[in-house]
Amino acid sequence: METPKNPTSIEHRIREGLSRLATAMRSDDWARAKAAGINPTQYAILELLEGRPHGLGVKEIALWLGVSQPTATDSILALERKSLVVKQTAVEDRRAAHVLLTEPGRTALAAGEAVHGTAEIATEPLSSAERTGLLMTLVTMIRQLQETGAIPIQRMCVSCRHFRPNVHPGEANLHHCAFIDAAFGPSELRIDCRDHEIADPAFRAATWDAFIEG
Ligand code: SF4
Repeated sequence: METPKNPTSIEHRIREGLSRLATAMRSDDWARAKAAGINPTQYAILELLEGRPHGLGVKEIALWLGVSQPTATDSILALERKSLVVKQTAVEDRRAAHVLLTEPGRTALAAGEAVHGTAEIATEPLSSAERTGLLMTLVTMIRQLQETGAIPIQRMCVSCRHFRPNVHPGEANLHHCAFIDAAFGPSELRIDCRDHEIADPAFRAATWDAFIEG
């Protein structure tokens, strides 16, 4: 059988594929937000604040979500009115107000998390090796975006000062987390770890080299 003539570039088709997944994820975002009784931007703010006991400033929230500061401010005000977040002035800098998740905010977040999403459905047919491979691909792509400045540094192992890649060669748990002093395998790499501490650029570069050499 003949192959189709003039296929679009592989980059183009990857973008098409990612775009289809993004559309499905957006619909997940709406379903989760609806279960929590808020809109997707407000829900994304609650997700961002989870595991950050000191909260985040409005500017940081806008940066993380890729929205304008006025949009972030409006969403935070709406969440404050529903008592899902609270603003607190930092002791060390009285000009900087931080936004923190409240207990009702945690409950709303849990209501959204109970929604079975398309990511789970989409990965159902994958073997565990394929899931780990996909996780590695995602880590690689997200790291590329953060290192080129397209997105802020995420709370991933590969940008964490506690990450020791491939220090247990030949073992299933070949990586090590110095924070909890425990070995872990590739399928346990974190994308958003609450214990993450950002490493400096030189450490991140050395860690990445050691990681991909393994
Ligand atoms: S603290 Fe979290 S992000 Fe850092 S290495 Fe340990 S598991 Fe990974």
